[in-house]
Amino acid sequence: MRLARLMLLAAASALPMLAAAETQDAGNTAMADNPFAAPSTLPFELPPFDRIHDADYTPALEAGMREELREVESIAHNPRPPTFRNTIVALERSGQLLERVTTTFFNLNACNTDDQMQKIETEMAPKLTAHQDEIHLNPALFARIDALYRKRATLKLDAESLQLLSRYHTRFVRAGARLAPQDQARLRAINEQLSTLTTRFRQNVLKATADGAVVVDNVAELEGLTPVQVGAAAQAAADRGLSGKWVIALQNTTQQPLLASLTNRALRERIYRASVDRGLSGDTDNRGVITQIVRLRAERARLLGYPDHAAYVLEDESAGTPAAVADMIHQVAPAALRRAREEGAEIQKLIETQAAARGGTAFTLQPWDWQFYAEQVRKAHYAFDQAQVAPYFELEHVMRDGLFYAAHELYGLSFKERKDLPVYQPDVRIFEVSDADGKPLALFLADYFARDNKQGGAWMNSYVPQSRLFGRRPVVANHLNIPKPQPGQPVLLTFDEVTGMFHEFGHAIHGMLSSVHYPTLSGTAVPRDFVEYPSQYNEMWAREPRVVAHYAHDYRNGEPMPPELLAKVLAAQKFNQGYATLEYIEAAQVDLAWHLIDAAHAPAAADVPAFEASALSAAGLDYAPVPPRYHSDYFSHIFAGGYSAGYYAYLWSEVLARDTGQWFHRHGGMTRKNGATLRRMVLSRGRTADPQVLFRKFYGRAPEIGPLLEYRGLAGGG
Ligand SMILES: [Zn+2]
Repeated sequence: MRLARLMLLAAASALPMLAAAETQDAGNTAMADNPFAAPSTLPFELPPFDRIHDADYTPALEAGMREELREVESIAHNPRPPTFRNTIVALERSGQLLERVTTTFFNLNACNTDDQMQKIETEMAPKLTAHQDEIHLNPALFARIDALYRKRATLKLDAESLQLLSRYHTRFVRAGARLAPQDQARLRAINEQLSTLTTRFRQNVLKATADGAVVVDNVAELEGLTPVQVGAAAQAAADRGLSGKWVIALQNTTQQPLLASLTNRALRERIYRASVDRGLSGDTDNRGVITQIVRLRAERARLLGYPDHAAYVLEDESAGTPAAVADMIHQVAPAALRRAREEGAEIQKLIETQAAARGGTAFTLQPWDWQFYAEQVRKAHYAFDQAQVAPYFELEHVMRDGLFYAAHELYGLSFKERKDLPVYQPDVRIFEVSDADGKPLALFLADYFARDNKQGGAWMNSYVPQSRLFGRRPVVANHLNIPKPQPGQPVLLTFDEVTGMFHEFGHAIHGMLSSVHYPTLSGTAVPRDFVEYPSQYNEMWAREPRVVAHYAHDYRNGEPMPPELLAKVLAAQKFNQGYATLEYIEAAQVDLAWHLIDAAHAPAAADVPAFEASALSAAGLDYAPVPPRYHSDYFSHIFAGGYSAGYYAYLWSEVLARDTGQWFHRHGGMTRKNGATLRRMVLSRGRTADPQVLFRKFYGRAPEIGPLLEYRGLAGGG
């Protein structure tokens, strides 16, 4: 049983216990030639993708749950007194079949799904959640874990084993293992209600977002959009039975992308208002849902012995306490606010200049104007166009001469493509990674192209976590959504896509350099507010002069990128960062405020917007032209996703990443010696120690905010 997986599933919901498991024999027969039945015999235990069919998943998942429950029962009822070996290590060794099938199933369901897999997911997710509950709330099992934990000081455990013991103990306690039976019953009831409410919240946002689409009667109002965008709006209207009109669909965030292009100010305002009015009225009103959610979360926190939900969540993150998160927000806020006001002043000046040129009166900058004028400021400052830079950012060069090159210079890694190993999709490539001493280290799967059956965005995942307990070396994958060109055409990237590749590869390196004993503590199995540290740190190498000089060559003739063009591309990275940082920390502040309240003091539904506004003004974050990235009523991350009291996590991680960048520059930059230090002290350590302690030892002092402000162009007065 691995805790990393439990963490992913724990957030889903708590459902009634499973009925008694089916008989063992039925499962064994069904599993006879199932590809998950035994560990893979391929190199690095790569899943046998060529032998896996959709029909294999359900029997393997069911057999895996039965197997794990049997193993857990025998650990719980072992007649011998509990020892670290017969309880904690035994748990660590349990659930292997379930581990194999869930890892592959959920990874492939995200990157290469089909209808059948989605059906399996809908059917199996609640069963898997109930399965986890059955383990967490097993009193005999917890009694053994608790007994060991109480006498941990006398067990003579090494530091990593001690850490493993406390991770298991923490996980069970946080899931309610220590509560009296009637409190456990209340906990399950709360979890069930929360599951219903968060689902309703998500569905309300979906419907409100669809319903909020803006209908345009006259194409002249769409001035500023490209013909392709106008065509898409006409198609969106036709799809809704509104032929002859145009429809602008809404995106998740407060700001809407087309506001950067639309010249018609009245239409911009209409779209903006449609966006921020989502979830405030009618049958998709989320205000009452929010108050119920925050009340129940507060009650659950109390039940579990915490003053509030934020304290409950943050105790298990590297931030540790709500005060630490509030402190980080307070440290970034003044610089973000100052920079945003400067950006706003520049925009206001542009509005006035243009009004004067027309002989009209200027208006005051509003949120629906920001992106439109910011785009004009950007073009004036950093004049270059994508067509000019694209030939220098060709995918194969960026991968081999950028990602792989930096990993070689820093950690001594080498990469060799393995075309002999099976893949789940022909575009996926597998590389065998060797360490500096030539020994095999890991497999890296590169799955870079967009597909209809792939989820959006970019992410890393792990197929096999490194562990000495099982003698396993890591198998990790990167997933992006780069549009695939016509056959024979080069894959040309934007600099944002290049940065995205370095980001995901930073996660991959974190997984590949792992050198730990227990799989639960391996690689990227670290807190949510720490996991984005190695990835955001690795982004810095995308813009390091020596690395850029190595990968940014014109794919047609090998010419290096002209320095003045590169300088423009890099300078543009700091553009509009006041806005971007401020809207982000406003959302983080709103998240925190909702999860600091006491159940008795949750506002009435009608007061939800007022509560949010006062939380922002109390923190000095109320600059009208920059609204939060999400208003509460459509903030799915915190009311329907896994980010409650956790939206701050990216910025928290980024502080560590930028401090690390500073550390490299202070210590002579990109050298094997510096890479080895970071590897030894942080990147190889997984969660074998408190991640904040790992960082402090590496950095030599507490994290500092300065380097992040510098990186984002927010430092100083200008
Ligand atoms: Zn990431």
